Amino acid sequence: MRDFTVLGTASQVPTRTRNHNGYVLRWDGQGYLFDPGEGTQRQMIHAGVSSHQIHRICLTHVHGDHCFGLPGVLSRMVLDGVDHPVHVHFPASGADVVHALVGVATPGLDLHLHPHAGPGQVAPGLHVARLRHRIETYGYRLVEPDGRTMLPDRLAAAGISGPDVGLLQRRGHLRGVNLADVSVPRPGQRFAFVMDTAPCPGAQELADGVDLLVAESTFADDDAHLAEQYQHLTAGQAGDLAAAGNVRVLVLTHYSSRYPDVSVLRDQASARAGDVRVIAAEDLDRFPFPRRRPATS
Ligand SMILES: [Zn+2]
Repeated sequence: MRDFTVLGTASQVPTRTRNHNGYVLRWDGQGYLFDPGEGTQRQMIHAGVSSHQIHRICLTHVHGDHCFGLPGVLSRMVLDGVDHPVHVHFPASGADVVHALVGVATPGLDLHLHPHAGPGQVAPGLHVARLRHRIETYGYRLVEPDGRTMLPDRLAAAGISGPDVGLLQRRGHLRGVNLADVSVPRPGQRFAFVMDTAPCPGAQELADGVDLLVAESTFADDDAHLAEQYQHLTAGQAGDLAAAGNVRVLVLTHYSSRYPDVSVLRDQASARAGDVRVIAAEDLDRFPFPRRRPATS
């Protein structure tokens, strides 16, 4: 089961209809909570997300709208009796802030802190790349390895069944039968989370070929000078990012409070996103993960 829940869509200033940031990706049995801003604990209740569903918390940077919800969420997990390990990923330069936030949370979790000081893999399938913001910031990318889907009729015709199927998958061939003859490629699914950045190579790297890209679009194209000044994306730049990455679905969020109606942001992103499906997220939206890409060969 894979889906994406939006807990909040506000940037620096929340509004009557937009909470600060917070996003939950449910990816098979694992729950990833990204950038929990203030109010995340209560938004989880509204969205029907249980604290037991969170296994990893990923912070892009330590500006308050991306992390001030951390102590509340951690304390709630203790109250709820969460007993599985909980991992927190964050830029190493933000360690003082993270330690302070963790320090005021109720103790008792099996908590593991993972600072990263450069790009690379930080957990199985989870990668970070450096973004361009006013303080050290990293985006995240989750990758499922490509695999193969076995074809039952071909397996039956080749006389392969039971434990021999696993043997064939591991070896690539068995008793004169090649894996390629009885299976088709299954492209892995990919997700990227790009917050608080000016356009940069790291953002492109994260977005490349993903099924679902969540990108900030703090400003409208008309306010590009503000986006440049504060190192954020405009909606059009988020569209550019998705198009260049051949992304399938782009979810916009992290809106400045100056835009009560975000359809203008969606339209500006769409205008530059080519074939990409563009969604302007609202608080408490939940999206199923896009269907798997068809195999190319
Ligand atoms: Zn922000």
